[in-house]
Amino acid sequence: QSIHAPDNLKPLLEKILQQALSVNEGKVADYIPALAEVNPEYCALTVATLDGNVTSVGDTTTPFSIQSISKIFGLMLAMERLGDPLWDRVQMEPSGQPFNSIVQLEWEKGIPRNPMINAGAILVSDVLVSHYSASKSALLSMVRSLCGSDNVCVDSRVHESEREHGSRNSALAYLMKSFGNIESDVEEVLDHYFWQCALTMTTEDLARSLAFLANRGVCPRTGAQITSHRDAQRVNALLSTSGMYDQSGQFAFTVGLPAKSGVGGGIIAIVPDYGVICAWSPPLNAFGNSARSMFMIRELANKLGLSVY
Ligand code: GLU
Repeated sequence: QSIHAPDNLKPLLEKILQQALSVNEGKVADYIPALAEVNPEYCALTVATLDGNVTSVGDTTTPFSIQSISKIFGLMLAMERLGDPLWDRVQMEPSGQPFNSIVQLEWEKGIPRNPMINAGAILVSDVLVSHYSASKSALLSMVRSLCGSDNVCVDSRVHESEREHGSRNSALAYLMKSFGNIESDVEEVLDHYFWQCALTMTTEDLARSLAFLANRGVCPRTGAQITSHRDAQRVNALLSTSGMYDQSGQFAFTVGLPAKSGVGGGIIAIVPDYGVICAWSPPLNAFGNSARSMFMIRELANKLGLSVY
C-alpha cells in the first residue's frame, strides 16, 4: 500500500476542516434531549499515526457522546471472553436494514445480523454481563488504558435518557430473550448497553484508543497485544461491511476504509498499518452519519490515497 502522507499533516487537516464548515447538510440527533442540545457547529478532525503522532484541528479536546462507536469496544471484550462460539450467537452479514430494525431479528430467530447494529450490540452486552463480574468497569478500564487517558467518562444524563427512550432497544432484547439468545437478566443487559452508548471521549482519545486495529492488534502506545492479528482483521472486515449503517456500501465505494459512526456525530476510520482518523461534527445525514465527518474523512482518504481496496 502506498500512502502519500505529507510530513506535516496539519495544513491539510486545516484546509479540509475549513471546507467541512461550509457543509450545511443534516440535523443533530434529537431522540434524546441531551444530544439535541449539543452545539451543531462543533467540528473536529484528528489523525493518530502508528508512530505515536497525533495531529488535530478544530474542537478536538471537547468530549462528545461516542454512541455506536462503543460497539467496537464491547465487541473486543466479548471476542476475548467467548472466542469463536460468539459467532454462533451473532452473524457477520450486513443487514441492509436500519440500525434498530426489528423485522429481520424475528425472521432470523433472534440471531442478529452483525454486532454493529443495535440487536448485535445488545447481544454482545449480554455476553459481557454474563461473563464479567463488573462489565462496565471492565469496559471503562479497557478504553482508558487503550487511549492512556482517565478523561474517558460516562455522561449520566445521556445514560438516563437512553434508558427512558429505549423502548425499541428493549423490544430487540426481549425478542432475543424469547428465542433463548440472551442469557442474563434483560434489564441488566440493556443497562450495560445504554451505559456504553453514553461514553464520552474526544476525537484524540478515540483515535488513540483504536490504533490497535490499524496495528495488527497491538496497541502502539504500550506494545500490548490487545487482540490477535486475525481478530483485528475480522473486526475491520465487520466495520467495512456494517460500520456506517445503511451507507456502508457507499462509504466503501467512495472512501474504502473500515469505519464506525455514532449518532453523536463521530466517525472513526481505520487505516491499516498507518493509523486512525477520527472526525466529529453533530449534524447527521439521512442515514444517521455525520455529514461533515463523512466529508472530512472522504477528502483526507482521497488526498492521501488511503483506500484499502
Ligand atoms: N443509543 C443509540 C441507540 O441505541 C445508539 C445509536 C447509534 O449511535 O447508532 O439507539
